Amino acid sequence: MQQQPASSVSRRDLLSLIGTVAGSAAMYHAMTSLGFATESAYKGPIKLNGDPKGASVLILGAGLAGMTAAFELRKAGYKVEVLEFNDRPGGRNWTLRGGDTFTELGGAKQTCEFENGLYINPGPWRIPYHHHAVLDYCKRFGVALEPFIQLNHNALLHSTNGFDGQPQRIREVKTDFQGQVSELLAKATQQGKLDDAVSKEDKEILLQALKAWGALDANYAYKANLISGDFRGFARDPGGGLGAAPTPGIPLALSDILKSQLWRNLQNFALYEFQTTMFQPVGGMDMIGKAFAKEVGSLIKYNAKVIRIQQNERGVTVTYQDGNGPAAPQQAKADWCICTIPLPVLSQIETDVGARLKAAIDAVPYAASIKVGLQFKRRFWEEDEAIYGGISYTNLPIRQISYPSTAYNHSGRGVLLGAYLYGGPNSYEFTAMTPRQRVEHAVEYGSRLHPQYKAEFENGISVAWHRVPFTLGCAASWNDKMRQEHYDNLCQMDGRIVLAGEHASYLPAWMEGAILSSLDAISRLHERVVKA
Ligand SMILES: Cc1cc2nc3c(=O)[nH]c(=O)nc-3n(C[C@H](O)[C@H](O)[C@H](O)COP(=O)(O)OP(=O)(O)OC[C@H]3O[C@@H](n4cnc5c(N)ncnc54)[C@H](O)[C@@H]3O)c2cc1C
Repeated sequence: MQQQPASSVSRRDLLSLIGTVAGSAAMYHAMTSLGFATESAYKGPIKLNGDPKGASVLILGAGLAGMTAAFELRKAGYKVEVLEFNDRPGGRNWTLRGGDTFTELGGAKQTCEFENGLYINPGPWRIPYHHHAVLDYCKRFGVALEPFIQLNHNALLHSTNGFDGQPQRIREVKTDFQGQVSELLAKATQQGKLDDAVSKEDKEILLQALKAWGALDANYAYKANLISGDFRGFARDPGGGLGAAPTPGIPLALSDILKSQLWRNLQNFALYEFQTTMFQPVGGMDMIGKAFAKEVGSLIKYNAKVIRIQQNERGVTVTYQDGNGPAAPQQAKADWCICTIPLPVLSQIETDVGARLKAAIDAVPYAASIKVGLQFKRRFWEEDEAIYGGISYTNLPIRQISYPSTAYNHSGRGVLLGAYLYGGPNSYEFTAMTPRQRVEHAVEYGSRLHPQYKAEFENGISVAWHRVPFTLGCAASWNDKMRQEHYDNLCQMDGRIVLAGEHASYLPAWMEGAILSSLDAISRLHERVVKA
């Protein structure tokens, strides 16, 4: 779901190194084995054939995994009850709008001050076109989607290590990098240095391809001219009437692109999970959670904090604190239990499961992640800079600025994502800050990409996921060794209890993973019930 921790060799850095050294095929294989890039296995609505004979199921958590299970199991004839910690459905599928409040671990309470109609998605915000399950439930439940802009050629790439700290346009970095690499390759080809690797027949075609792909001139050179201008844009755009001819801009030097490392960011648009077309629900990501709740809301008990999970041969007993009810803990009973509580929370709940499952629950760390939403007096990124949607990347701790993929060209206020940190030391640093400090840092750092920030800023809100009481982290952060040791144990049924959620999938940190894991868990549970 996310990219670029600040330092140390992260999985993403490792992938990027593999990609650089060994090429894209090697990278695809590496990504697949690390849990990325696998296409969703969703094959259409699940069919749970067979009579559950009045069996009852208690579902813990009303995120997408929990509500998928509730929806499908009730349809199959089960008696279903859901216990949910929050006073709303959706879990991480969550949107903050003006008037919403959020109290993080440590007690800091924020009230969102956004203008009516503006919002930020502190958790999930984009849906790849190949996340078939999410898209199918959206279709079935009538959730309207619109494009999420991942790549905007006119957004910025910024590094403190190059171009005197001045942000560069993605279209310029991309075209100039591609053009100069093509020129080098064309030179090597013409000098016969690739003769061992490229046949005589292919050599001519390769040169033609490099000319087209790299915007080279007739001499296979990449220059400031109208050929490169057609891709990178112009110093002065073509106009109408007298003196309207376009003027080409000067390409960025290859050495500057290399040293600044801006080329690294280009991967954020090429990776399978970030390729066009991506989607977002119209009006906020929580439209998905709300649509699920329209179907299964009557089954959910909100403000119910699970504190103990017991099982024996006859059934499951779950003890919970009812935020709206009596002070004494309450109990709910059922034949079976599907537990979707995130692992950092679950590992602190006394649960009657075998040693293997318990070890798996305790083993998986969750990534640190922070998002900061900022409201500005006007949409200056559109008005002054013609940036309509998309993401600017920076090596500053805020990592990225994402412009809203909606309400383009409107006058008036706007909200953008002013920081999205994921892993790395800066994430821990931001998590340790007060919400106000996070917002202040986002404004300070962001002003280095957009000088308008300080004059136009109005208010902001931040969510640091390790301080979110209902997850205690962003998402499961598996590695190969952990998967080998614990993944199957985490997913196996343990007596009458089975776990589901993004953590029990090969698509961690994606809503698709939550839904697929839930469908898998309920299929296995149903098989056992029907056979019994
Ligand atoms: C910063 C961030 C960015 C992301 N970006 C994307 C994205 O762009 N696209 C995408 O598809 N996915 C993204 N994800 C991942 C996505 O949000 C999750 O994979 C998915 O929402 C998880 O669903 P779930 O049902 O497994 O868990 P959750 O949504 O966490 O549901 C678990 C539920 O259990 C409840 N619970 C917790 N403790 C208790 C308790 N003691 N008693 C009762 N209930 C309890 C919680 O309140 C919650 O409702 C992102 C996540 C984050 C945090």
